Amino acid sequence: MTIKTHALRAFLLAGAASALVAGAARADGEVNIYSYRQPDLIAPLLDEFTKETGISTNVLFLDKGLVERITAEGANSPADVILTVDISRLTEAKDGGVTQAVTDETVNKEIPAQYRDPDGNWFGLTTRGRVVYASKERVSDTDITYEELADPKWKGKICIRDGQHSYNIGLFASMIAHHGADYTETWLKGLKNNLAKKPDGGDRDQAKAILAGECDIALGNSYYVGLMMTNEKEPEQKEWAAAIKVLFPNAKDRGTHVNISGMALAKNAPNRDNALKLMQFLGSADAQKIYAEKVYEYPVAPGAEPSDVVKGFGALKADPLPLADIAANRKTASELVDKVGLNEGPEM
Ligand code: FE
Repeated sequence: MTIKTHALRAFLLAGAASALVAGAARADGEVNIYSYRQPDLIAPLLDEFTKETGISTNVLFLDKGLVERITAEGANSPADVILTVDISRLTEAKDGGVTQAVTDETVNKEIPAQYRDPDGNWFGLTTRGRVVYASKERVSDTDITYEELADPKWKGKICIRDGQHSYNIGLFASMIAHHGADYTETWLKGLKNNLAKKPDGGDRDQAKAILAGECDIALGNSYYVGLMMTNEKEPEQKEWAAAIKVLFPNAKDRGTHVNISGMALAKNAPNRDNALKLMQFLGSADAQKIYAEKVYEYPVAPGAEPSDVVKGFGALKADPLPLADIAANRKTASELVDKVGLNEGPEM
């Protein structure tokens, strides 16, 4: 934990700001990161960044309230770079006024336009497919579309997590972007009536429910399958993963819905130059490779390969719609989830 070798310091919430301010004042070779991503997940990336640039990194890990915190810190906020998952949180950061626009040739070259804010207030670093987990035993289908999830042939067979969870809202927003709100409302009603039970748990719990025979198909993010397959801490998750196969919805037509993890430059970044260097690094081939290997996500960099585990799921053909256009439908998606009563589960 020395400054020279790079310190990954996960500060406690209380007193973190003063610790970061002290750090920033001590040296100009630093960058302060406010992160919703777990420290152990980003540590290998930051180690490599420090090795390449000599710039040390300070991490404040938060599980909520990032926008409120930076807002409260105001002009003196030590935050340089924000790291988070999901278009919802990146949009929240932009709309909350805690980011600033970046126009950087390197970053723009590394990250496809589809996965960055047109105004430069956020940038995607990895993508994750919202895929279908299907029972290996009971589902013979090899391809499926999101649209078909409303087909009565799946009645009583589908499991999902909370319909208002940002992962599902992202998918439903993409349905609106492709088909409009009226179609999506009808589709959500069909999906609701195909549910085996009330939406519940996380994505991994849906695989567990498939193993238990409670449902045959489920919606889940692609990386969880890699995380379950390799989970030494909770080996029972390997069994959940072994019960399912990954189907990439709409692989044969408009492509599978993807969401992103991403970054933003904080509004008052005191170490702006170092922050830009970190942003350039995170989009670089080196960093993209680390992301792919450690977290089972898809690199955003064109031509960068996913890990072997992820390749084993098959090829991802991502929906080409810009994430910003999808995100614009999030509010409507959320209203429709309530309107059709998705979280109440199937009507008997
Ligand atoms: Fe997740």
